[in-house]
Amino acid sequence: MLNPKHFPTAVPPRPMGNYAHIILLRETDSYALFQTDGELNTARVRAGLTEKELMTRLTIFKRKQTTPERLVGRELLRRHEIISGEAYDEKAKAPVDKAGHPICDYNVRFCMQCPDCITYGFAIGDSGAEKAKVFSDTAYSVTAYDTSHESFTLNAPYESGSMSREGIVTSRINEQDHVRPQTLFPAIITTRDLTSALFFYVLNNVLRTRRYGAQTTRTGTMTNHLVAIVLADGEVCSNLRLTQALFDTLKQQDAIAPAQPIDPQTALSALSELLPTLLETQGGAQISQLLRGPELAGFLADLPMRKSEAGMHALITAATRDSNAYHQAYVQKKGKK
Ligand SMILES: [Zn+2]
Repeated sequence: MLNPKHFPTAVPPRPMGNYAHIILLRETDSYALFQTDGELNTARVRAGLTEKELMTRLTIFKRKQTTPERLVGRELLRRHEIISGEAYDEKAKAPVDKAGHPICDYNVRFCMQCPDCITYGFAIGDSGAEKAKVFSDTAYSVTAYDTSHESFTLNAPYESGSMSREGIVTSRINEQDHVRPQTLFPAIITTRDLTSALFFYVLNNVLRTRRYGAQTTRTGTMTNHLVAIVLADGEVCSNLRLTQALFDTLKQQDAIAPAQPIDPQTALSALSELLPTLLETQGGAQISQLLRGPELAGFLADLPMRKSEAGMHALITAATRDSNAYHQAYVQKKGKK
């Protein structure tokens, strides 16, 4: 079990140093697009912590990871009737719908009280802002950009199926780079000072989110393998270092073959095994619990929210109670000043 005493019973107004880290290995299950202005995002970094050569890696920016996870959580909040399904009406300016549910319109008008608003934060012009209590960082592919992407030509043929008409070839041909399936991205999601219900809300979002990247018909799906949960009094290592440490280990095990995807099971075991040493040598935070391996599997299998709709409803209700309490104590007051 996860030590319940590590989580505060109420979200405090100021940082209190109760950190919980969700350590993941994200794996693309199909072709994916993580891009800006039509180009895949990449970074040139060292291959490993010990392997010194430089390498160009694919990257997934922070927002491209958290936004889909937030949206999955918000869908659940609507399903369980915590927030309204209605969009905010700029003329009526009603904060709640007819049934009395708060209208929380993403990036338009946040309700400032639901679990999504309180955990991930919001900013709404002059009317207020809440700092995020969930942190993430750019994620890096374990393998190099060269071997982890593929270029496709996207054709838009004529109705006859041909690419030319009356001898003229259509210009509707687009070249687009895609991230290959089975590309691995280690990633840490950090939460600070969340109650256990709000932490489980975030964890649940991560475990349920499947679609990341550009929203096109070719959108890629991804599996988030949970590797560990770490309870600590501070930040642990960065995604880049985690990726580099994994690269070193896999290289030593001869598990990286040029132009071949890495076996996900091999990577998962390696990542789990390197954690105790990495957490001790990187970060500097005191670790109070490292949940991984068979214990983590048992913990996941026992989560009520994953067992039944009633378990999920109980989680959503508890998370909402905690976010509402925070709203009443600190957000509402701030707004009244
Ligand atoms: Zn909200």
